[in-house]
Amino acid sequence: MASKPMCYEDKYRLVCAGCGRSFDGCTLTCRHDDALLRSDYFNTRISPRNLPGIGRFHDWLPVLEPITADSGPVTYKSAGLAAELGLANLHISFNGYCPEKGAFVKTCSFKEFEAFPTMLRVKEAGEKALVLASAGNTARAFAHVSTLTGIDVYIVVPRKGLNRMWLPEEPTATIHLIEMNSNCDYADTIQFAEKLAKLPGLMPEGGARNIARRDGMGTVMLDAAFKLRRLPDVYFQAIGSGTGGIAVWEAALRLIRDGRFGNRLPALHLAQNLPFAPMFNAWNAGRRSIVEELDMPQPKKLIASMYSDILSNRKPPYGIGGGVYDALAGTSGRMYGVTNNEAISARRLFERLEGIDIVPPAAVAVAALVKAVESGTVEHDDCILLNITGGGVERLKKDYKLIEIKPAASAGADTPVEQVLYETG
Ligand SMILES: *Cc1c(COP(=O)(O)O)cnc(C)c1O
Ligand SMILES: [Zn+2]
Repeated sequence: MASKPMCYEDKYRLVCAGCGRSFDGCTLTCRHDDALLRSDYFNTRISPRNLPGIGRFHDWLPVLEPITADSGPVTYKSAGLAAELGLANLHISFNGYCPEKGAFVKTCSFKEFEAFPTMLRVKEAGEKALVLASAGNTARAFAHVSTLTGIDVYIVVPRKGLNRMWLPEEPTATIHLIEMNSNCDYADTIQFAEKLAKLPGLMPEGGARNIARRDGMGTVMLDAAFKLRRLPDVYFQAIGSGTGGIAVWEAALRLIRDGRFGNRLPALHLAQNLPFAPMFNAWNAGRRSIVEELDMPQPKKLIASMYSDILSNRKPPYGIGGGVYDALAGTSGRMYGVTNNEAISARRLFERLEGIDIVPPAAVAVAALVKAVESGTVEHDDCILLNITGGGVERLKKDYKLIEIKPAASAGADTPVEQVLYETG
């Protein structure tokens, strides 16, 4: 086995998806344009390690220490849903908790695959802590990884999101939860986190620009390729930011360069939950840019009526170089708009036929697959990968007592960040 690289420069470099220039280190942006930077691993032929979770794909994760946790994607061939839809080659990437399927993602979504490499990279870069604004799966995933790794995380949450802040274990003092008071909306929450992340030793999570997040999510495609011994023809996922879609596209590009998995990129079939579906609207209008008045008029009202409000990103990395538009265009992809009722029926169908509960965004992906079958967009023999991005919350409750994370400080939009840092320890 190759010896462990001593620094990032031995393992990968960053290449701009826009201008092709390459960079070393942890920078999040190209100096010349606003395209995404991608990791370019010097080891182009991946050798899976004998580890239980995403650490199996260490060669293509931007960390030096191996990740040994048992959290990772599980790809299996569908029987129940496949038969119902008349599909001969439907594979499910289950990303949640279901020990019966070998799935041990205890915060129940694929956000955990982002959290492990991102947190580890913070430590390896010599920073003290990571800062993020979120109230959902991302926050739980990073909090969980903080308890496992002992790396500090500052999570800024709007008050109404607090009830989603649970863990399957006792939260540790490394989790600094900051609650924004009830006068603050999500935009204030994000802004506060940005200010906090500017303090010395604290690092912003970087969103879609962070290669550790994307390469962590890319393990969904890597696991599928090794199970299927090929790239799938079509990939289904529900998106809010689309980062997961970009991530699997990039992983597929690496797998093609590897040479063992075929040379055709999977077509990305990505779904949004109507009525808030800016990327669905822009893509179907043939536009690279999202026009707010056309694609997301009255966003607050639209978001309030979604079944899956997790999919409600207002500034997705859609038009930037290497973003969602390029991923769709580069793979002959498609976008779907899924209604609440379609998602709810699809959730029931999946849970009855596959025997595990799923979260609302995953139901949106299932609904998109159902629509694709009904309209003949996919064919009986197509090799399909369906990303069930989250599930098993009900199953988890049978094995674990879920414990709420308590806020360590409360803030308003104008509270000095130094004061909050002091209060949260
Ligand atoms: C975040 C999330 C999504 C959307 O993922 P993106 O690719 O970042 O848009 C889908 N499903 C679940 C369960 C999520 O937590
Ligand atoms: Zn560039």
